[in-house]
Formats: sequence, structure tokens, C-alpha cells
Amino acid sequence: MFNKRLKIKALLASDDTGFEATVMGWVRTFRNNQFIALNDGSTNNNLQVVASLGLFEETTLKRLTTGACIKVTGEVVASLGKGQKVELKAASIEILGDSDAEKFPLQPKKHSLEFLREIAHLRFRTNTFGAIFRIRHSLAFAVHKFFNDKGFIYLHTPIITASDAEGAGEMFRVTTLPLDGSAPKNDDGSISFKEDFFGRSTNLTVSGQLEGELAAMAFSDVYTFGPTFRAENSNTARHLAEFWMIEPEVAFNDLEDNMNLAEAFIKYVIDYAMQHNKEDLEFLAQRLEEEEKQKPLAERSEMGLLDKLNFVVNNDFERLTYTEAIEILKESNHNKKKKFQYLIEGWGVDLQSEHERYLVEKHFKKPVILTDYPKNIKSFYMRLNEDGKTVAAMDILAPGIGEIVGGSQREERLDKLTARMKEMDIPAEELNWYLDTRRFGACPHAGFGLGFERLVQFVTGMGNIRDVIPFPRYPKSAEF
Ligand code: ATP
Ligand code: MN
Repeated sequence: MFNKRLKIKALLASDDTGFEATVMGWVRTFRNNQFIALNDGSTNNNLQVVASLGLFEETTLKRLTTGACIKVTGEVVASLGKGQKVELKAASIEILGDSDAEKFPLQPKKHSLEFLREIAHLRFRTNTFGAIFRIRHSLAFAVHKFFNDKGFIYLHTPIITASDAEGAGEMFRVTTLPLDGSAPKNDDGSISFKEDFFGRSTNLTVSGQLEGELAAMAFSDVYTFGPTFRAENSNTARHLAEFWMIEPEVAFNDLEDNMNLAEAFIKYVIDYAMQHNKEDLEFLAQRLEEEEKQKPLAERSEMGLLDKLNFVVNNDFERLTYTEAIEILKESNHNKKKKFQYLIEGWGVDLQSEHERYLVEKHFKKPVILTDYPKNIKSFYMRLNEDGKTVAAMDILAPGIGEIVGGSQREERLDKLTARMKEMDIPAEELNWYLDTRRFGACPHAGFGLGFERLVQFVTGMGNIRDVIPFPRYPKSAEF
């Protein structure tokens, strides 16, 4: 019954007429008791289905409400309506699923993003979210294509982990022990995880990097692309409690190779979306332009979405060290006029997102790669530089987003690594398996983590990260 279905995208792409076609989809609007705008998710464009007057029962027409699912068979004919070459002249209409117009929350009008977030189970059926999630799909596909074409191995790292030494973020605990106070206890009153499912305390992964490094010491080039979890209580437009991360890890790469890989990767996936999601990007660009018009002139961005993406693909990212960035920030008028919430007084402080955004949006006006951060504000596994106080780290900062990539050359020298772990109170016994890579055939290597949702945010121009993942998880919210 369903296998003869033609996708609306395919139908609209050709100007063939005079043949019979069957389409299925959801009614967006029904005008003048005659014109159905039908959408099946293959494209943002609706197919105009014409239900000629007098041909259908009044009872059928009444059921053609916004949100209803229908099957239509008819002849594809040239369209006189503007904006479309063809339309479908319905010969039969079958209602597959009714939608009570009084109760269906999506009306053919503009809804706020906040409202749509509350009905995330239905927001796929809007133009905006249709475009976003088709682009998200394309980007995910492009991620795999980029690495596969380069001969990388896609590694599935565990979601449940026992190491809590990384310090990448607050973790969610995984346990089957009872929460009613009856969990087994140690002599000192603390919970005995020996009795827990895994015989130890476990949590959801915050990063697949350490496991990625193990595999890179065999396959040379690997990447992960999977969910990561951080119980950070940050209610921002750039943080989720559950997000997807892409983490390549490459043997024989130094920091510069790492930057080159990250920059090439970002450009590739953006370009891929521009090639494969033209219409959806144009739709979102238009949407953004209208949104921008609501803002005061001074706050509007100088470039439209497509110009911005083109610019990123076609220009080198600015590369500079943390130390150079601190100088720029310290000397900036912004700092002198005390416009930063956190004033930059000297070397060694961590950069806040206001500083990152100043560098990217005001100073350089392009993506920036910052390198060689003070070791004290970075993770234990980053390679110590000659100066003894900075590490071979790199963060990529993007306009409107801030940090999109965090990476480094890894410390491959066992003595330096263990010394650093001691300084940071990281118990070596817990990471023995990790240290083994430094004991047996260690080599220089580097990698980075890119937050997939931040990438989708950048490409779609969406202001809030909660709108680029189907069902966002954030503090006090895990619905659907
Ligand atoms: P931030 O300072 O923005 O919180 P981070 O320094 O904690 O980021 P990393 O630990 O380096 O980030 O993680 C690598 C990448 O993962 C980041 O560059 C970012 O793109 C993404 N990322 C980190 N935390 C989140 C989050 N809570 N939600 C979505 N993406 C995230
Ligand atoms: Mn963070």
C-alpha cells in the first residue's frame, strides 16, 4: 500500500507532468476548501494538492485539518500558482490520521521558540525545525564522511565509565543501589560501591578522549562521535547536560597538525551543508534576518547567515597564543573602560566567554584558534611546553558561539605526565590503563573535542543550543 509513495522533494524537483503519483504527508494548511499544502519532511517546500470543488465529500474535506495525515493519489500537473512548477490534482484522498483542529497545538502562524520547546514532540512539523534537523542530519553524515575519506577508524567509546579523574565536568552517577537509605555502607558510613552493579562507582562519560588515545596507539587515526553527559548546572544558551561530541585522536600529530585538522574539518562540514542543504539554509538565513530586524542597529550582525558561512569556509582562522590574546584584551578599550565583567589584569587567568567573544566578534571578526594556555587552567594530559608553564593546548572560538573546539597535543612522556598527575592529585592507580600507552610504544599524538550541537548552532544560526537537538536535556528538564 505504501511502497509507491513519491517523496515531495523528488516531485517538486522535476517539472515532469502528466503522470499519476501517490504522496503522503501532513496537512500544513487547507485553503478555500480546495488547496492543501502538504509536507512530508523531505523538504521544507509544501506540495500544493488541489481538491477540485465538487469532487470530494464534505465529510472528507472537513477532516483536512492542520496536522492531519493523508494519502493522496492524482495527476501531476503544471501549476499556475507562484513558487512551484507542479502541483497534484487529487483523484483520491485517504485520511490516514485525523488531527483535531481545536486541540492541535501548532497553528499555521508564527510560534515562539520557547513555546515550541514545550511541544518538542511536535516541533519537527514546523518549517524552522524541519530545516534545523535536516541540516543536523547532513552535518552528522559529513562528519563521518570527512573522517572515513581520510582513513580514520570510527571508535565507539563506552558511555558508562569508571574514571572520574578527568575533571572535564560534573558527572551523572550510574547505580542500581537503592536510594532510600538502605544501600550497603562501609565502616565509615560512606556507600559501599563494591555491592553496586559494576562493583565500583560509575558514571556517564564526559568525554571519550582517554579511550580514544588507547585506540590511536594502534590505528593511528581514530575518531569518536557519541553522546556525552555533564551535570553542569549552567543554564546557558551553549550548554546541555546531554550533548554529542566528535573527538578525533591522531598518532604522530603535533599541535599544528591538530589545528590544521580541526580547521579543515570545520570548513568541510560547513561546506557540505552549504552544498546539500541550500534551501534549508536559505530559509534559516531569512528567518535570522527577520529576527535581526527586531534588534537595535548596533546589535545586529554585519553578515547574514550564508555570508558568514561562506566567510568561514574561505578564510584562514586567526591563530595566536593565549599570551598574545591576553595582551590584546588587556590593552583593549573594552578593558580600559571596564566594560568586561571580569577585567583582564594579568597573565594566567582563564578566559570568560565575554573575552572569547570580544576577540572573535570585535577584534578579529573571524574564527580564532588560541594556543599555549597556562598549564594551571588546563587538563593534566596536555603536553607541557619548553617554558614549563604553558601547555600545547588549542581552543577554537567561533563568532556567536564562543568555544566550539577544545584540544591539545597530549603529554606522551611518562615522567612528565605522572609528575603532572601528582601535582593535580590525580591517583595514578585509577588510570593505569591510560598510563600503559606511555609505557609501551608511546608516541607524540594530538586530538580535540568538538561539541556537535555548537556546530549545528553555528551553521543554523540558532541562538539557543536547546533548539538544535531534538529533545534537549538541561537543568530541571528531561521531558520526552
Ligand atoms: P565550555 O567552557 O564552553 O563549558 P569546556 O571547556 O567545558 O567548554 P571541553 O571540555 O573542552 O569544553 O569539551 C569540548 C567541546 O565540547 C567544547 O569545545 C564544546 O564545543 C563542547 N561542550 C562542552 N560542554 C558542553 C555542554 N555542556 N553542552 C554542549 N557542548 C559542550
Ligand atoms: Mn564546560
